[in-house]
Amino acid sequence: MAISKKLRQRNNENAAKYFASAFCGFIALFIIFHWTRLLYKRCGLSKKRTGGVLKLPVAFTRLSRQLLTRKVPGFPSAGHNLVFLGYIVTNLCITFTEIDWTNLVGLSKRLGWVTVSNLSLVMFLSLKNTPLAFMTAYSYEHLQPLHQIAGYTTIATWFMHAMIYITAWDYSHTLHEMLEKDQIMGIIGGISLLLLLLTTLLRKWHYELFHIVHSLLAVLILIMAGLHRPNLVQKSSYAIIFCGAIWGLDRLIRTVKLSIYGVGNKATLTPLPHGGTKIVLKKAPKGAKAGKHIWLHLPCIRKIELHPFTIVSTDPLELVVAAQDGFTRDLHDHAVKNPGVEISASVDGPYGSVLDFYGLDKVVFIAGGSGGSYTAGVAVDLLRVLGDDEGTVVEFVWVVRHTEMLAWFSPHLAELSSSPRVNMRIHVTHHSYSPSSPSISGPDEISSTPPEYMQDPEKDLPSPSSPQSMHDPEKILPSLTRELHTLDGRPNIPALVRNTVVDAEKGDRLAVVACGPGGMMLDVRKAVADNLRAEGPSLELWSEHFGW
Ligand SMILES: Cc1cc2nc3c(=O)[nH]c(=O)nc-3n(C[C@H](O)[C@H](O)[C@H](O)COP(=O)(O)OP(=O)(O)OC[C@H]3O[C@@H](n4cnc5c(N)ncnc54)[C@H](O)[C@@H]3O)c2cc1C
Repeated sequence: MAISKKLRQRNNENAAKYFASAFCGFIALFIIFHWTRLLYKRCGLSKKRTGGVLKLPVAFTRLSRQLLTRKVPGFPSAGHNLVFLGYIVTNLCITFTEIDWTNLVGLSKRLGWVTVSNLSLVMFLSLKNTPLAFMTAYSYEHLQPLHQIAGYTTIATWFMHAMIYITAWDYSHTLHEMLEKDQIMGIIGGISLLLLLLTTLLRKWHYELFHIVHSLLAVLILIMAGLHRPNLVQKSSYAIIFCGAIWGLDRLIRTVKLSIYGVGNKATLTPLPHGGTKIVLKKAPKGAKAGKHIWLHLPCIRKIELHPFTIVSTDPLELVVAAQDGFTRDLHDHAVKNPGVEISASVDGPYGSVLDFYGLDKVVFIAGGSGGSYTAGVAVDLLRVLGDDEGTVVEFVWVVRHTEMLAWFSPHLAELSSSPRVNMRIHVTHHSYSPSSPSISGPDEISSTPPEYMQDPEKDLPSPSSPQSMHDPEKILPSLTRELHTLDGRPNIPALVRNTVVDAEKGDRLAVVACGPGGMMLDVRKAVADNLRAEGPSLELWSEHFGW
């Protein structure tokens, strides 16, 4: 009996080790892929490549990306789907190998170990200060889908662990064991997991409430899991200690950043038309860069809420926020009532990553609505880095509902439009004002029907609270912005990407950088996948979406 228990314990420990090794392996693959691509670009191999030894691996990589970039039902892309399948297969393997099938307790105990292993993964993927951000191109927000899937799996395996244990006790007439202190702690932890599942319903409806309850329940689950297996000899408690340590460290780093960047920091709010608000901060966090994002705390708008916003420029730190219903609406209303007044502020960050633009021949920026926060800032930053260097050309496409929204990024648009390397197209889908320069229609890259994604409720909400002056283009649009040509209707994204590839030289390196509503991101993803070829110019996609 003692020997079989020892064997079971050893097999369960091995299962947890295999799980950890599998995920270290996955991560290693992503790290290798990221750094190989970076070296390939930096060493100029992509330019020198004319065939020979690199021809086959390059063709293979491109064809794989062509398949993996495509949207598949239920997932943003086939690549996400593949990671998901790898994750499920790993879970099935560690659940059902080297298991004692002589009674139900063997399977139940194994499911307990699988639950703890997945819980560790969930906690790791929840870290804002994740080591993956500098080892791979993936910052924490890109890992959110996997965090969610691992979370659901943890709940499912805990549920099976509990049900099978109860059945086993029932068979052996030992149900009273459920009332032992360790088991009660496990039951409370499990109930907390189920409550956590219920809170996901709050996510769309009241994000802040969801976030607070989610964090509190996560702490409770860790404590209860620790008390469920308090004996260090059982070793599963090591995983719980690991979870608590990384979670605590992450929180500590975030609190320290928030405290440091709160000292003497002030935000100046400027209302913009159609629910926009420009925020200029006195102090920028170390490492701030256009395209990265920060978590902003404005205590006079909301005492305990932090919201993520993309850095448009860093000197001074500038953000542009589109009003939704909660914090952002109150922020806009405050800006309308107190334009230019300084308020206390603090930030946690920066987080996120930006494409490595080194050696690119052409970059196509595509944005919808407030997605311009990402592309306008990054494009201007790119121009400044390039300086007088010849080579990279930029196509800048921004789709807005109303012409007045050009005021959101007028200095950036002015800088971009004055650069000979930039071809700018502003698409206006709902004309409420005709600028002095007429709207022009382009070739096949214009689509006449209004885009569905421009009706996305998360983007470009009109602002009933905006005073009339903000809708007067003569007051809000600096002269340069008024001179910009605008195009009617949405861009034809497939034609835009196709023409970019067709017009390029065989050895050119192209990139599409996009940020906007979900529907637009799907169009961009599909257009890039359709134009990835084994031969010809290389094409990279970098897409950002404001949400998870
Ligand atoms: C990485 C990132 C960068 C972003 N950058 C910008 C930007 O530069 N400009 C801009 O206008 N918007 C940006 N957003 C979106 C912005 O953070 C949300 O619109 C804002 O937090 C909504 O707050 P609210 O209380 O007004 O929303 P609500 O009206 O309460 O909700 C609107 C939507 O926002 C979601 N949401 C609410 N709070 C948060 C939160 N704290 N984190 C994530 N989602 C939330 C809700 O689930 C809901 O779907 C960004 C989002 C992310 C994730």
